[in-house]
Amino acid sequence: MRSRPVIAIDGPAGVGKSTVARLLAERLGYRFLDTGALYRAVTLLALRRGLDPADEEGIATLAASARIELEAVRPATGRRGVLLLDGDDVSEEIRGPAASSAVSTVAALPRVRDAVKRLQLQVVDADDGLAGVVAEGRDIGTVVFPDAEVKLYLDADPVVRAERRAALAMRWLSGYAQSRGEKTMSEKLAGEVLDAASGRGNAVKKRE
Ligand code: C5P
Repeated sequence: MRSRPVIAIDGPAGVGKSTVARLLAERLGYRFLDTGALYRAVTLLALRRGLDPADEEGIATLAASARIELEAVRPATGRRGVLLLDGDDVSEEIRGPAASSAVSTVAALPRVRDAVKRLQLQVVDADDGLAGVVAEGRDIGTVVFPDAEVKLYLDADPVVRAERRAALAMRWLSGYAQSRGEKTMSEKLAGEVLDAASGRGNAVKKRE
């Protein structure tokens, strides 16, 4: 018997499940369970340990003993939640290029999915004082919480989904550049456009 109600939001990548789930959780005063973050954390751990992203046995064993803690964000803070891996804050790193490019391979491994499912059930049973959980993920309403109190399915045009994914990657790269004191891609492009407009640059060639 579950200790509190679950709202499950399913759908493919890039449709905005996380955004909708977070807003809904804030509105209801529920906990937001970002299942993608758990898959990303397991992927990062596997990469850190030098495992091949297709090594089902190795990664499933690692995931079963992993110390992954997903912060229960108080609603209405607008925050996504800190994710700790072995006590280390990896909230940014799990969204970086390395984890992002390997996560779909890792998430396709059935035994890894079983291990991550256990982590998801633990979050729902955690005693964090929030009245319910909004969980999002591609199989959350079918496999993980088939008996969820409410199930929603989100979908969107593939072009819109691809644009959302590209925008997310750009945002991560900008944050990464800023954290290293470097110019962001937009700042570099803006510089090139201004140079070209003033006739100095060669990035945008004038038409003859
Ligand atoms: O939602 P997010 O982009 O953080 O998820 C990262 C990846 O993890 C997805 O692209 C997908 O490959 C995998 N995933 C999954 N099942 C979930 C959540 C995420 O397979 N429930």
